Amino acid sequence: MKVGILGATGAVGQKFIRLLQNHPWFEIAALGASERSAGKKYKDAANWVEDVNLPDYVAEMIVSDCTPTSLKDVDFVFSGLDSSVATEIEGDLARAGIPVISNAKNYRMDPTVPLLVPEVNPDHIELINSQTFTKDGSGWIVTNPNCVAVPLSLALKPIYDAFGIEALVITTMQAISGAGYPGVPSLDILGNVVPFIGGEEPKIAPETQKLLGSFSNGVITEPKYPVQATCTRVPTLNGHMAAVTVKLAKKPSSIEEVKEAVLAWKNPIADLGLPFAPKQAIRLHEEERYPQPRLHADHENGMQLHMGRLRTAEVFDISFVCMAHNTIRGAAGGAILNAELLVKKGFLKK
Ligand code: NAP
Repeated sequence: MKVGILGATGAVGQKFIRLLQNHPWFEIAALGASERSAGKKYKDAANWVEDVNLPDYVAEMIVSDCTPTSLKDVDFVFSGLDSSVATEIEGDLARAGIPVISNAKNYRMDPTVPLLVPEVNPDHIELINSQTFTKDGSGWIVTNPNCVAVPLSLALKPIYDAFGIEALVITTMQAISGAGYPGVPSLDILGNVVPFIGGEEPKIAPETQKLLGSFSNGVITEPKYPVQATCTRVPTLNGHMAAVTVKLAKKPSSIEEVKEAVLAWKNPIADLGLPFAPKQAIRLHEEERYPQPRLHADHENGMQLHMGRLRTAEVFDISFVCMAHNTIRGAAGGAILNAELLVKKGFLKK
């Protein structure tokens, strides 16, 4: 299938270009960005920061604007657009019959738009049928969550299914790549921790609760529980880590019962043969010093969720840490997996 990448010059756009090399189903056919970049060769428009060579054929492609006319030959687009422009551009493309798979926050909480993590809520895909961008259903939007909501929802899914959740406290340690390029000034972050990331904390509860919601008759019913979130920026390169403490609705007899629930969890997409799906979606580490962003963020091509330090908590019921690669699992790689599921479910067609 021919795909376009919106925001192709940005940090997430570059990750899409890198990850889509040799993809068995998807081929890059268009690169969209702002007026600043449109009309230029990609190699002149983008400051390539990935640690592999820019593919020659991409380097020579001409960047276009993000209008439906410029993107009329693609089967669908991935969006890594700045949120200041995503509402209008993504909406225009969907109205023109071009499916959009987006990383931007703009449509995530729209009740007709799936906020998708394939292992957590694959059934939410059917929400597409309620969208009204086009009369014939050819144009629609699917989003993937914030780069903290992705690992958090994956880690919580087995626990939520087995015990329910009554309250949650989370402190994140987020890598600098999450701020895009050039991102956080070096003088702010080298040898330091910044205890606030603008706009990040308010996304965690609503996005995670939408992801864990049950879906029937075209409506998501979300669990509601208080969430106390503190988001910090730390001087790691890739891999958002979080320390999480949870009050459970049903009390486990021991921490072993919680471990068993995580280990026994059945991944609903395990047998679909999706190229970007990790073989083991959730890895529960027993070693107390694991997981670590530098050691584990790249495992299974950056698509695996790592949990560790699962233990009984003095406050509430259980505590654990979780970690995943923020620009792969938490952004471009997650969007590619979403597209693969959409192909398998028949929503994306040539
Ligand atoms: P970024 O590096 O700042 O890139 C933004 C992209 O948007 C650039 O390609 C830029 O093109 C394009 N753009 C800006 N204004 C435009 C306009 N008027 N018309 C068309 N294109 C325009 O940002 P990023 O870090 O890649 O993030 C992209 C999106 O993904 C954001 O919505 C972000 O919140 C989300 N996200 C990021 C991460 C992450 O880890 N970085 C994770 C999850 C989600 P020009 O180069 O031409 O200006």
